[in-house]
Amino acid sequence: IILNPIERSSVTQDLSENVILTTVDDLYDWARLSSLWPLLFGTACCFIEVAAMIGSRFDFDRFGLVPRSSPRQADLIITAGTITMKMAPALVRLYEQMPEPKYVIAMGACTITGGMFSVDSPTAVRGVDKLIPVDVYLPGCPPRPEAIMDAIVKLRKKIGNDSIQDRAKSRQTHRYYSTTHK
Ligand code: SF4
Repeated sequence: IILNPIERSSVTQDLSENVILTTVDDLYDWARLSSLWPLLFGTACCFIEVAAMIGSRFDFDRFGLVPRSSPRQADLIITAGTITMKMAPALVRLYEQMPEPKYVIAMGACTITGGMFSVDSPTAVRGVDKLIPVDVYLPGCPPRPEAIMDAIVKLRKKIGNDSIQDRAKSRQTHRYYSTTHK
């Protein structure tokens, strides 16, 4: 069929209105960032703020976040609170049980650096990133629910720019403590 210029422009306009072109990466990222399911994980006072965020006042499920109790159903872990040496293997085990792709938000001074326990506590882990890879650091003591929202928005932006290949490569090169290491 040979179209005249007017017909051609009308076909082009119809196509542009009805056809969406995208890449597999963009589609994949959009699906992931719109349905992050966080594992309920709190080890100290920071978790009170996470609990507040789950309530109706802050309404975090508007971001598609659905809290899960099983790591098998979660793709995000917000480490809310102090991590002790005794807790470390359990945290790593939970992280390993989460399916890929998975993300970590380190929440609060204690989880990021050991916080006030970093001075002389022999049992506090000085930084959760020594155990598992962290995607977003959220400082504060404790960070308010608005700050947690901000961290989630930042994580969503990060996921939006992710590519499947880069993520797979970073997972291969990132070394972290594993429960299978002796
Ligand atoms: Fe508690 Fe502050 Fe440590 Fe959070 S950062 S666990 S609020 S002491």
